Amino acid sequence: MPSRREVVKAGVLAGSGFVLGRPYFPGVGQPGSEILIRGGRVVNADGVVEADVRIRGETIAEVGRGLRATEGATVLEARGRLVMPGGVDPHTHLHPGFADDMTSGSMAALAGGITSVGTFATPARGEAPMEAVARMEGVVAREAIADVFLHASVWPPGPELLATLPALVEKGQPSIKMYMVRADFGAQLEAVVRVLEAAREAGVVTMIHCEDGVLLAAAVRRLTAAGSTGLEHYAASRPLIAEVVATQQAAALCESTRAPMHIVHLSSARALDACRPARAAGLPLSIETRPLFIHLTEEKLSGPDARLFVGQPPLRPRSDVDAMMRGLIDGSIDILATDHAPWTREQKMDPALTIARVRPGASDLQFMLPMLFSEGVGKRGMTLERFVAATSTNAARIFGLFPRKGVIRAGADADVAIWDPKHEAPVLAANDLSKSDYSPYEGWRVTGWPETVIRRGAIAVSAGRVVALPGTGRLVRRERWQG
Ligand SMILES: [Zn+2]
Repeated sequence: MPSRREVVKAGVLAGSGFVLGRPYFPGVGQPGSEILIRGGRVVNADGVVEADVRIRGETIAEVGRGLRATEGATVLEARGRLVMPGGVDPHTHLHPGFADDMTSGSMAALAGGITSVGTFATPARGEAPMEAVARMEGVVAREAIADVFLHASVWPPGPELLATLPALVEKGQPSIKMYMVRADFGAQLEAVVRVLEAAREAGVVTMIHCEDGVLLAAAVRRLTAAGSTGLEHYAASRPLIAEVVATQQAAALCESTRAPMHIVHLSSARALDACRPARAAGLPLSIETRPLFIHLTEEKLSGPDARLFVGQPPLRPRSDVDAMMRGLIDGSIDILATDHAPWTREQKMDPALTIARVRPGASDLQFMLPMLFSEGVGKRGMTLERFVAATSTNAARIFGLFPRKGVIRAGADADVAIWDPKHEAPVLAANDLSKSDYSPYEGWRVTGWPETVIRRGAIAVSAGRVVALPGTGRLVRRERWQG
């Protein structure tokens, strides 16, 4: 055991012999325990200051210069390090149907500097939406290490859903998800409008997948008639216009109903342009893109490993990829979220898959932040403040977690990632704590890595190793939307 007064250099805390299930500092994160992060640069969305951070129990107690450690405190020396709010990733798939469970997904998230993840409560057959939320709450209690929040994935948009909205607010999980890819989305449009009106009244945020189901089905039908059902035709089966028209419609629904809407995984310059008038008018329309769309181009969809890169929407040309990164840098895109969808290589390469039957997405939780830091901050002039806004603060604001999360200030949850901005590392699936066994970025090198990660006052990652226990993550209560 280390002495309780031990001064430890941030990032080399681990020493040796730490394994999952053996927390390093048993007392840390408990009421009364204290951590002092000393000498780092504290980065928030609104500025960077040289300051120390005092954590007491699960909460940030104080941020300021020259703070003195009290008796018994754990001191982390952070000179030359960046002290940033833990990442808040509102869009992950850590629910049944994918390769990860809540524990492996949490481990990947935490190892990559993300302390809070949003995932979906999708009703099983015969299950009501609130029953799905309760079931997922049980999974969080048993398996989570990161903190978790839930979005109710809901369809059809009928009376039951209208009744569910106040219950979600009551439960502290005020968000739902709808998919315009559904074949009957257009047929249900009047009911969708009524749900959005009720969501605005209740303070519930609607996440929306913007690809037009009718246009997608038409493209698949035409390709199928021509005998072109293989995944080499994947990009053609999901035409850009399907995203553009759906995004236009989402912006129109937001303008018509004034309901808070969050567009997930936006992928193209034209779709982004479709959002600009509503955003310029101050409507509550937020936008997220995902790592695949800022790092990889459509060329990946040809070649022997093309199937590994199948996602919804598909990878786009270079001009769109540049537009997504620019949008993150200039703030016209609010959030980078993983849409973490972990599969194994075998599942992705399955020869039975066709343009009509796909396994979309990829594992991204562990590498999203280091890759954005390296490519965005390191190479494209993204400011540290924008990095924190796009990966933590904006998501916390949109989903009702701010100022409890998304900021380093007195009173906030002590979710903190201490980054070494000079640490170089390769991106390797072999190092990914997700159960996915391949990475779309295999062999990339990044500069900048979160070495120590603190989740609600407990050291959860030390020198790259997850040392906190399954079941220590919590379902986080959120505030209703108050735009
Ligand atoms: Zn998703």
